[in-house]
Amino acid sequence: MTYAEVIGDPISHSKSPIIHGFWLKALGIAGEYRATHVTPEGLGDYFAARRADPDWLGCNITIPHKETALAFVEDRGGVKASIGAINLAFHSDGALVGTNTDAAGFYAPISGLGAGGAARAILFALSRIGVGRITLLNRNPLKGAALLASFGLKGDAVKLEAPLPPAGLLVNATSLGMAGQPPLDLDLSPLPEDAVVYDIVYAPLETGLLKAARARDLDTVDGLEMLIGQAALAFELLFGTEPPRDRDDELRALLTA
Ligand code: NAP
Repeated sequence: MTYAEVIGDPISHSKSPIIHGFWLKALGIAGEYRATHVTPEGLGDYFAARRADPDWLGCNITIPHKETALAFVEDRGGVKASIGAINLAFHSDGALVGTNTDAAGFYAPISGLGAGGAARAILFALSRIGVGRITLLNRNPLKGAALLASFGLKGDAVKLEAPLPPAGLLVNATSLGMAGQPPLDLDLSPLPEDAVVYDIVYAPLETGLLKAARARDLDTVDGLEMLIGQAALAFELLFGTEPPRDRDDELRALLTA
């Protein structure tokens, strides 16, 4: 039976098998989507073995392989020079092609605004939609400044403790607020009333940041929207058909059960 999978180290927390499994079942496709533990030392052997397996359709790639996996794929879309990280390898015309569906997955929920990994995909998406100035808060402002420059974005790189600017969109692209990580403590009072607060962390779904935003009656976007968005593009590339996005409510209920 043909199959695809998600690889990472660790990997047991991944929700991708639930999402793709839901869509495979909904569409009656006889295929499988698994989670496979692959260590950094084992990455080369993993790709060598899978390339020889005719049933393997490709894989999603998560922490810590998003940058190193670039060495094992064809980079037809110039992802190395743009985002610098891939989250999907799939077969196309006999080649194993690497791409990144995180940028579009992040962008889809806020497309109406006109306006280390995930942060790079997000900065790439923001650079493509022509947002104005960006304030990048990072524990190392020099790293933040280099990131802004590498995506051609204008703005300021400041320390994580700096007060927020009156921004229209606030994104948490760090792992802070995730289960087992310290919380992200930000004073949201400088944000205007029509600001949107977007947290890409999805475990837990209701992060402290989103709670604080809702307490101020700000619009919010949670991490599941990006997770499902990037998975939908990956599904189409792996299984050759669009997933049933009209069943997102059911999928969200399954993921949060
Ligand atoms: P990553 O490559 O390990 O990057 C972690 C980021 O968090 C880095 O920017 C790091 O800052 C920052 N960070 C970690 N610990 C910190 C601390 N104690 N204080 C300040 N900053 C800290 O991970 P990633 O792949 O970007 O993922 C980040 C989060 O996004 C995770 O929760 C992941 O599950 C989530 N994610 C969600 C989606 C989705 O579809 N919703 C997709 C991808 C990722 P430095 O730059 O200073 O190292």
